[in-house]
Amino acid sequence: MNATPLHPWVIANKDGMVEAAHCDCKAGLRETCSHVGALLFHIEAIHRLMSRRTVT
Ligand SMILES: [Zn+2]
Repeated sequence: MNATPLHPWVIANKDGMVEAAHCDCKAGLRETCSHVGALLFHIEAIHRLMSRRTVT
């Protein structure tokens, strides 16, 4: 709980292609950590939920 929060980020184009990713954890220095993966899953879930909304 006292650990410093990590700051993963991704740059993706409109097609969803990831152009770059980074995280400030040890594995993130090589741009392949689970935090970036979790961020991508979160973005995908939000996109899927927003796509389901219909205008009534
Ligand atoms: Zn990380």
